[in-house]
This record gives sequence, C-alpha cells and structure tokens, in this order.
Amino acid sequence: MSYPSTNKAAYDVAVVGTGIVGAACADEFTRRGLRVAVIGEDIVGSGATAAGMGHIVVMDDSQAQFALTRYSQQLWQELLPELPGPVEYEQCGTIWVAADEEEMIEVQRKHAYYGEREVPTQVLDAKELQSLEPNLRPGMAGGLLVPEDGVLYPPCAALFLMERAQARGAKLNLGIKVAQIGQGTVRLADGAEISAEIIVNTAGASSPDLTPGLDVKKRKGHLVITDRYPGFVRHQLVELGYLQSAHSMSGDSVAFNVQPRRTGQILIGSSRQYGAEHKEVDNAILVRMLQRAQEYMPGLSQMSTVRTWTGFRAATPDKLPLIGPCTGDKSAFLATGHEGLGITTSLGTARILADQITGTKPEIPVEPYLPSRRANEHMHA
Ligand SMILES: Cc1cc2nc3c(=O)[nH]c(=O)nc-3n(C[C@H](O)[C@H](O)[C@H](O)COP(=O)(O)OP(=O)(O)OC[C@H]3O[C@@H](n4cnc5c(N)ncnc54)[C@H](O)[C@@H]3O)c2cc1C
Repeated sequence: MSYPSTNKAAYDVAVVGTGIVGAACADEFTRRGLRVAVIGEDIVGSGATAAGMGHIVVMDDSQAQFALTRYSQQLWQELLPELPGPVEYEQCGTIWVAADEEEMIEVQRKHAYYGEREVPTQVLDAKELQSLEPNLRPGMAGGLLVPEDGVLYPPCAALFLMERAQARGAKLNLGIKVAQIGQGTVRLADGAEISAEIIVNTAGASSPDLTPGLDVKKRKGHLVITDRYPGFVRHQLVELGYLQSAHSMSGDSVAFNVQPRRTGQILIGSSRQYGAEHKEVDNAILVRMLQRAQEYMPGLSQMSTVRTWTGFRAATPDKLPLIGPCTGDKSAFLATGHEGLGITTSLGTARILADQITGTKPEIPVEPYLPSRRANEHMHA
C-alpha cells in the first residue's frame, strides 16, 4: 500500500486510544504525511500511561525485548532537545542492585550482554554502590549501573506527542467510547461512525474489548509517591530479582523498584497481579511492596507518602507487544500488549508500525512483535 492514499475513507489511519502508544502512533503517522484521526474515551495520557512509572529502560529478557527497548530509548534520546520541561526527562541511569554474591553473577552476565550490544554499563562493587546510593541498606554485594537509562513523566510525554500530531493535522476526538472496530469503520458508542483505511487498536489493557479473542490480560500494579526528599535516591534502583517478579505467570509478586522524581519525590514500586481487575488499592500487596522497598532502603519507612494508586498493564503470554496487522481484516492493526514497558517502547512501536503501514524498511526486525507470530509458532511447533 502506498500512503497518503487516494482512498475514499475519511482518514488513512484511525488510532483508538489516547495513552502514550496512541499518542506516539498519531505523532509518527502524521510525520509520514498520513491523515489521522484519534479517538479516546478519556483524556490524553490516560489508562496505564497515567499510572506508569516512566522508567525508560533497556531490558534483556529476550533479544526481541532488548532490540525494541534499546531502539526506543535511542529515539527518546533523539527527542530530548524538543521535550518540554513538564515531560521531566532525566537521564539518571538505572542501578540493578545485587543483594548477594549470587546476584553478582547476574550482574556480570548483564554487563557482558549489554557490552556485546554496545550499551555502556559499569559493574559496581559494594563500596561503589554505597557511595552512589548511601541510603541503600549496608551489606549489598554491588550492582550494575546503566547510565543511559532515564525517567520521564508519562502523561506529559503523551500530551507532547499528541500536540505535535495535532499540529500536523491529526483530528483528536476525546470523551468518546469506541464500541466496535473493523472493516474500515470505527463505530462509536453513540452510533456515529468514522471511516479509515487502517484502524489501530491502542486501547492497552482494554484492547481485547475491541479485538475479540486477543490474548492480552490485565496485570495490575501499585505505586506510591512520597513527599519531597531531594537527593535521597539518585538513580532508578531496581533489585535484580525484578525479572523474576515480572516473569511469574501466576501468583502476585513484588519487587524493589524506586525512582527519583525531579520534584525530589520518590516513586516506589512495584507489584504485579493477574486476576485483580478492580482499581482499588489492595492493602495486602501494598504492605508487601513497601516492606520489600524498606528491606533495601530502610529510611523509606520514615517518609510520608502523598498518594497511592493502581494501573493495569496489558500482558501477552510471551511478554512481547503485538505490533502489526491482525489476520482476517486488512484494515485492522494492533499496537498493544506492552506490559511494563510501554512508556519506553512507545516510540519504537510507532516507528515500526508506521514502517509496516507505509512499506518502509524498519530499522529493527519486526517479526518478533507481529500479531501473527503465535500462529506461526504453532505451525513450527
Ligand atoms: C504500575 C505500573 C508501572 C509501570 N511502569 C512503567 C515504566 O516504568 N516504564 C515503562 O516503559 N512502562 C511502564 N508501565 C507500562 C506502561 O504504563 C504501559 O505499557 C503503557 O502506558 C501502555 O500505553 P498504551 O497507550 O498502550 O495504553 P494505555 O495507557 O492504557 O492507554 C489506553 C487508552 O485507550 C483508551 N481506551 C480504552 N478503551 C477504549 C474504548 N473502548 N474507546 C475509546 N478509548 C478507549 C483509554 O482511555 C486510554 O486512553 C507501567 C505500568 C504500570 C501499571
């Protein structure tokens, strides 16, 4: 297909959802000259985007996860000069904290993996870790510093991307629930319709409501923000056991994961729960999460907290997002299933989806993220 098209549809692309993935898609599609409509039931930067931590992080759970996170992080870095103040982008770096010598083996593995792929990292011994983060409990074995990781404030990042899209002509429709999508038509809850050659489902954890049969599950997370304690935490600090927590396919899990905000506040995470579909704070898991944080940083127990909230990650069985066409409807595309990495990977997602739509050669292989990958896996099994 070549775009912009001469098709009779009102738009080349309709984007459903105004979280960060929808905003990034609208931004990228308009940059490519496409006629774009965006429809969201809430404000820009809502959904998981309003709840997320905003850690822009390179991850190495799989080569595909690494490729998309690193590519996206580099796109964020390119965007840096244009990001307005409220986006609060800080390249504070991540320290993966090793509690004992066994975890130091993982530090060395990660260091080698990143080194082979040209991501700068530094192995820290116990003394170096203590001097970089003096409020960690004494006795930690060390850690891995990843200096190019950063943090930002997700709702304002989404707003920035959406405003750029609007400035290039995207038509934004807010406060409108989409009831159904398919065959080039977005059907709104009030019965109105919007026609587009391509419709992209970026509805996050609600995406299966619009694409029935989609294997995306809600994965609840809790976060707590403290009052202002400037300098108490200097890097995004994550325990090395975090991956185990993210990996667990059943049961609830918590991991030490804290972030310094530009305001001096400390954002404390994180928890993961399947099957908890209510928004309310779950006190039992909240207590577990805070206890875990205090095991690593005892001083957190003295701090006053300002707010606690929850959000829903959109989780796929293989922990990779779904980016590309759906089978059976040539107008239907997906950009969903980003679990705990959608703030980071929003920019890369938008790029490789726009590449697929416009027939441009992508800068990273797209096959691992194609929605059809599961059918292919079964064929080759
Ligand atoms: C606790 C927590 C911490 C996280 N921390 C990080 C982190 O540090 N780094 C990171 O990279 N990621 C993080 N994430 C993940 C990240 O927040 C998500 O992956 C990302 O926000 C997904 O964006 P999205 O646009 O796909 O979905 P969402 O932000 O959920 O947006 C979906 C949009 O679709 C709209 N919508 C849904 N249904 C309809 C409908 N029927 N009609 C119209 N509109 C509809 C919603 O209103 C919303 O605007 C975290 C998530 C959680 C919950």
